Amino acid sequence: MKNLKLSASRPDGARTVIDVGGVKLGGDFVVIAGPCSVESEEQTLRTAEAVAAAGAKMLRGGAFKPRTSPYAFQGLGLKGLKILEKARRETGLPVVTEVVDTRDVSWVGEYADVLQIGARNMQNFSLLREAGRSGKPILLKRGMHSTLEEWLNCAEYILAEGNGQVFLCERGIRTFETYTRNTLDLSMVPAVKAESHLPVFVDPSHGTGILGMIEPMSLAAVAAGADGLEIEVHCDPSSALSDKDQQLTPAAFALLMDKLRRLRAFMGELG
Ligand code: PEP
Ligand code: MN
Repeated sequence: MKNLKLSASRPDGARTVIDVGGVKLGGDFVVIAGPCSVESEEQTLRTAEAVAAAGAKMLRGGAFKPRTSPYAFQGLGLKGLKILEKARRETGLPVVTEVVDTRDVSWVGEYADVLQIGARNMQNFSLLREAGRSGKPILLKRGMHSTLEEWLNCAEYILAEGNGQVFLCERGIRTFETYTRNTLDLSMVPAVKAESHLPVFVDPSHGTGILGMIEPMSLAAVAAGADGLEIEVHCDPSSALSDKDQQLTPAAFALLMDKLRRLRAFMGELG
């Protein structure tokens, strides 16, 4: 691919590993889990404790939500970030949260360990530049209409600001298929590995939007070689203020984590 000065695979095959408070993205297999949105202190702490107990290594939760409708729940903003900070203190899990506005990047970075740039903002070039200047680790999700080359060029915007801590997340693209929320493109896992040294994660929650598909797609992502997963979990999904149909219960998440461990052990045996 042309013009990928910083994101393209290196001649010696060396891959990026990002250390976030001892969690090695691109080194260890890492599951990021937590609610779609931070809704209250109780909901976030309960969920955070459950995902930590099941073996998640990072906590996700949106305080700024990019919603289709301006009348839908938009997130708790600063209050949500303070709740995430408390959840990090109580569980020890580093926090991943989305930033949607260039003006918020530097101060949100004071609360979050990783800043997420969502699918809808993948090509928001001023946001990418600001994220690069923040020096924080950045989780860059694939835009829902984007090619691999466009996606890697967006990573390039962040890298070009001198921030090498970028990792990618496949979260499904828009196709003619409407059965699933998006078409999860797992072929991007080996494609990113071939073209780039950046770690690549998979989000089966937004990628399918269907509860029963999260486990098989998570297992498939591991088999495809993903460096980690980002999964939505809610302590009481039926009461969720966003994405209630795709959030796993803590019990379902714990079962999934057990299957992931067994699959990874089996893959280790295969060599
Ligand atoms: C999210 O992870 O909270 C999210 C909104 O995902 P995406 O940007 O992939 O839709
Ligand atoms: Mn969501």
